Amino acid sequence: MLTVNAYGATSATEPLAPMTIERRDLGPKDVLIEIRYAGICHSDIHTVRSEWGECPYPLAPGHEIAGVVAEVGAEVTKHRVGDRVGVGCMVNSCGRCVNCEKGEEQFCVEGNVQTYGSIDRDGTVTQGGYSTHVVVTEDFVLRIPDGLELDVAAPLLCAGITTYSPLRHWNAGPGKKVGVVGLGGLGHMAVKIAHAMGAEVTVLSQSLKKQEDGLRLGADHYHATSDPETFQKLRGSFDLIVNTVSAQLPIDSYLGLLAVDGALVNVGAPAEPLSVNAFSLIGGRRSFAGSLIGGIRETQEMLDFCAEHGLGAEIEVIPAERINEAYERVLASDVRYRFVIDTSTL
Ligand SMILES: [Zn+2]
Ligand SMILES: [Zn+2]
Repeated sequence: MLTVNAYGATSATEPLAPMTIERRDLGPKDVLIEIRYAGICHSDIHTVRSEWGECPYPLAPGHEIAGVVAEVGAEVTKHRVGDRVGVGCMVNSCGRCVNCEKGEEQFCVEGNVQTYGSIDRDGTVTQGGYSTHVVVTEDFVLRIPDGLELDVAAPLLCAGITTYSPLRHWNAGPGKKVGVVGLGGLGHMAVKIAHAMGAEVTVLSQSLKKQEDGLRLGADHYHATSDPETFQKLRGSFDLIVNTVSAQLPIDSYLGLLAVDGALVNVGAPAEPLSVNAFSLIGGRRSFAGSLIGGIRETQEMLDFCAEHGLGAEIEVIPAERINEAYERVLASDVRYRFVIDTSTL
């Protein structure tokens, strides 16, 4: 066992604090990664505060991990010492079910093993990326291409794939009109990726506060959803809307913005149910759908795509001692657009 420095939660109400955690001995298929950067995702906050169910304490969160391979097990073939690598939201799955066989491990019928706070297949509780090292089975380790710096690559492992996957699945590209609801950690990556795919991109944000940023990131248009005229003006115009907001929204109003056969896809997950009027769907053969990260193969495809198009996240790098302050700023939407922890400060 390897004892490593980390930063995590000991209860739902205490601030996060320095701690040590154990990493398992390297198995034949395992990769030991020296973590350099870890992104702060809104999910980390929900989880450590037990807002999504009872969290196993102590817990170091973090599922946007970028680092360098420090050691590999005897049977590892996909990664070598010194390789630049990443780990996202999951670290294992059954590997045999219909969804795993299709490369969609996020939908493993036995449940994928999440990067932190999940029971791994060996029975131990997984610990996340706010730490100096992690041991992961080689199939769940991604290659970070040379064109991407590790700090701006880290958030791609959750925010990047969460938005890339629905954009791919619903065929964002030239001739397609894509709306992005919310310009936060997820939304800013959705704008960059949809633009790089060749789609015409519109940001639908509460106010026009971030308009300049949105246009700089690649949006063609920017509208405030607090202005009722927006919903009149844009009625029936989008092929795809990606909703990144984890809060109550008037779903019927957004469905009204879709063209015939358009889809409104939720990647945000509000705690309370959302209501939908069936007439909003049948009137234009519209879909209201959801999407969860992406499989390992697609995550690699996303990293390669981002490297090819020079896309990284917009980040603010912080030392570990500022994690609690960063959490408050994430909750206040005061971040442009992702905090990334420099794990050498742990
Ligand atoms: Zn995340
Ligand atoms: Zn499976």
